[in-house]
Amino acid sequence: MKCFNHPDREAFGICVTCGRGLCEDCSVVFNEKLYCKDDIKKLAASIVSRPTNTKSNRNVLITASSIIYYIIGSSSLGISVLLLLSFYLESRIPFIGNVLTVFTLPILLVSLMISVIGFLSADLLWKSSLKGGLLGIVTSIIVVTVTSPSLYIPIISIFYVGVMLINLIAIILIVQGWQYLS
Ligand SMILES: [Zn+2]
Ligand SMILES: [Zn+2]
Repeated sequence: MKCFNHPDREAFGICVTCGRGLCEDCSVVFNEKLYCKDDIKKLAASIVSRPTNTKSNRNVLITASSIIYYIIGSSSLGISVLLLLSFYLESRIPFIGNVLTVFTLPILLVSLMISVIGFLSADLLWKSSLKGGLLGIVTSIIVVTVTSPSLYIPIISIFYVGVMLINLIAIILIVQGWQYLS
């Protein structure tokens, strides 16, 4: 094989990117790999532009986790509204209503809290903030912990497995995309 640029010279090696034959003058070694001068320039340009690219382009993993926390926040808000409604209705039923409201109120407060931290995590993650990553993980741990008693109720336990999976996916997305948070 001859050098791509110098047909009179025997090739010293092959460019790992374009596969063209290269003489010693035309080849550049980088990270123990051989490149032609065109491809080493392209590689250098991509390395230089990488930090600015990741800052301007939102990372797909972090964006996906942000969307999950928006869903968690909205679902919690929805549950809060339903609880608030039942809280209002139950309080109007004498005696039984009083017993029910004792349980409804703490669940309502927890649900509202999850809604707030869920939306906050989602917003911070959307802005690729490191705080969003940390808060997101904390949110998921709280959600999985406070919803765990539902595991004892057969019908709702299916719902709980879903909640656990969604939060697990969110945490994996954050950990995988951690480098894109700042
Ligand atoms: Zn090349
Ligand atoms: Zn050459």
